[in-house]
Amino acid sequence: MAADGAMRLSAVRQAADSLLREYFRCWMHLVPVELYRLSATLRTEVVRSTILKGEAVLMPTRDGFRIIVNSSSPVGRYRASVAHELSHTLFYDAESAGVPIRRIPYTRREEPFCFDVARHMLAPKEHLDAIGVFVERDPAAILARLTDRLFLSRPWAARVMLADYTLVRGIAGRWKRTEQGWLPEYSSSSASPDLTQRERKKLRDAVGKWLDSGAEPPRSMRIASIEEKSGEGIFVLIAEG
Ligand SMILES: [Zn+2]
Repeated sequence: MAADGAMRLSAVRQAADSLLREYFRCWMHLVPVELYRLSATLRTEVVRSTILKGEAVLMPTRDGFRIIVNSSSPVGRYRASVAHELSHTLFYDAESAGVPIRRIPYTRREEPFCFDVARHMLAPKEHLDAIGVFVERDPAAILARLTDRLFLSRPWAARVMLADYTLVRGIAGRWKRTEQGWLPEYSSSSASPDLTQRERKKLRDAVGKWLDSGAEPPRSMRIASIEEKSGEGIFVLIAEG
């Protein structure tokens, strides 16, 4: 969990694979991952709550775990929350009988790791293959399949495309209109890991210019953009070539 780069990615993949193992034995063909069945293979019961503050909470129980999840969350966030909480079960000793106990003391660093594992669980390679994104070249079409077929949020879909599977090379994120013009919002942004800072800046500038002026982006760049509700900005993915 501590390592960065390639080692971290391989730890994330291993964790996601181990959580999906039992489920994939029976239901690999079900796209997207059916979370109630997956949870059942991990001795976890999912309960929706109308009074929960926050997104979701994981509780060890006598029989395994219970995830209480906010019933008002939109589907993408709901699925991300359940997968995220399932990832936390890896930090418990759930093999022995009785209430699972923590094997590893909790630290905040567990959170980004569990988000990465959750994203890999909701976008396994087998399912990406099933929805045809490995043979699709158009970034807008890939983004749409990941959001429509796998119910990923746009920031997660972009990260799957750019970083997790490097389907296209580029950057993505939400741009918001400010007094200084259109600016990228860093919390929703992602980029291909092999892009240099200079290349990232060049792509960001191209998006800014395009949004400010309505001019055509350079021919060597392909832009997939999705208009969002007013005030939320525009989600843009820009790919090279
Ligand atoms: Zn968490």
